[in-house]
Parts: sequence; C-alpha cells; structure tokens
Amino acid sequence: MRDSRSGQINPQNAVSARGVRKSFGHLEVLKDINFDVPYGQVSCILGPSGSGKSTFLRCMNHLERIDGGHLSVGGSLVGYRERNNKLYELRPREIAKIRADIGMVFQSFNLFPHMTVVENLIEAPVGVRKQSKREATDYAESLLKKVGLENKRNAYPRTLSGGQQQRVAIARALAMQPKLILFDEPTSALDPELVGEVLNVMKELASEGMTMVVVTHEIGFAREVADMVTFMDGGVIVEQGPPDELIARPQTLRAKSFFSRIL
Ligand code: ADP
Ligand code: MG
Repeated sequence: MRDSRSGQINPQNAVSARGVRKSFGHLEVLKDINFDVPYGQVSCILGPSGSGKSTFLRCMNHLERIDGGHLSVGGSLVGYRERNNKLYELRPREIAKIRADIGMVFQSFNLFPHMTVVENLIEAPVGVRKQSKREATDYAESLLKKVGLENKRNAYPRTLSGGQQQRVAIARALAMQPKLILFDEPTSALDPELVGEVLNVMKELASEGMTMVVVTHEIGFAREVADMVTFMDGGVIVEQGPPDELIARPQTLRAKSFFSRIL
C-alpha cells in the first residue's frame, strides 16, 4: 500500500489530494482523502454505493466544494488560487477555465438532446475554446472515427443505443483535449451486451496515455487497465495499490468482503 499521507499536494500530478473533507449537512461524505494520479496513468476507484466516489469525482471537477484539505487537479487548486502566499476563492469564470481542461463522462451520458452528435462535439470547442466551426468539426469527425461512430455524425442522441451515446460522450470529452478525464460509472447504465464497446474505447484511450480516473464496478477492466486501484468505503480510502495486489489479495476485511461479493 502506497502511503501518500505525509507531505503536501503534488501539483505535478494530474490529481493530488491531501486530507480532503466534504460534508453534506451533518453527513461527512469524504473524510481525510489522500490520493494521487500521475499524468499518463489510469486510476480506478471501487467501492460500495454511498461510499463517496461520485462526490470525490465531483469535487475534482469543481462541481462540489471541498470543506477541508487540499486538492489539485490538472495543476490548479480546486476552489482556491494562490497569489503572494495567500489563498483566494475562485470566481466562476476561473472555475470554468480550469474545468475546460477536465473531461467528465457520467453514468447517464448527459448529451445535449436537441443537438446532433457532431453539434454535441463542437459545442464546447467553439463556445469555450473559440475554435472555428470548421476546425472543431474536422477534429470532431476524427474523434467520431476513433470511437467507431463516423456514420452517426448527424444523428440525434435519442436515436442511438446507450453504448453509442456513451461513446459520443467520450468523444465529446476528448474534443476539448482535456488534461485528464473523469469517468463516473460509465457502463453502469448500459445493457450488458453494450458494456464491451465502451470499455474498448476506454482501453484504447488508456493505451494512448490518456490520464483517467475511473469509478467503476468493472473489475476486469480495473485489473487489465488500471495502474492503481483505490477501494473506498464510508468516505475513507480503505486500501490502495496496484490491481494485482489489491484485487487479488485485499488486506482488509471490508475490501475482502466487497470483492468476494462482486467477483
Ligand atoms: P457513491 O458514488 O460512492 O455511491 P456518493 O458520493 O454519490 O457515493 O454519495 C455519498 C454519500 O453522500 C451518500 O450517502 C449520499 O446520499 C450523500 N450525498 C451525495 N450527494 C449529496 C447531496 N448533494 N446532498 C446530500 N447528500 C448527498
Ligand atoms: Mg456514484
């Protein structure tokens, strides 16, 4: 087990968390989270429902504020900016700028329903990155080819299968050329026969060196692709290690019981 407890955040990493805490009212959902993802690595987070996995990802993407500790994502502090040794709260425009570098793929796809596939892909590059429509469209088309959907460029999301929609969502994240992509149970809403096509796209991204944080129940994927696996339960990181160690030989009772149930 790697110990990242000591020391400060490492802003050279894609993600670096020290002592991160988050509560909703009286419910403490993240308790003293220490977590690092170097660039180029795939880090999978596993754990039972309600353990705080989504909340942690949402904190990484500035969708939730942390209540304590330090969190750096893509080289920027979440929530604060440092200037002259002082911390200033980020303004919405600063958050939007930082967030543009962080891709996010949700369980429920979250495509814009009133836009075609290619319109979904170019919306942010044109709107946020100020790319020309031509440039954004060319790149979008290359990404659709990459995820095997070049013939769906003018389709509306509702006409696509769940697996196709999720591949569009991944292409849409890639269209912003993010520093890292956060995946929150990207295959949990899919019919079993559609899971493989999405995992295959994710495996290809991983092999190309994309930095990825993946909350998933797909143990096979974690085993094959992850550089590091984190097991969360009850708002704490219970165990962390390379997949061969953690999944094959969990040390704690909680992890043993979790893996024996889902393997
Ligand atoms: P996981 O993704 O591991 O299933 P979540 O991060 O979604 O866990 O949730 C962790 C805990 O925080 C749960 O008890 C959940 O009910 C609670 N929670 C999540 N979001 C909110 C919210 N916006 N308001 C109140 N409680 C929340
Ligand atoms: Mg969740």
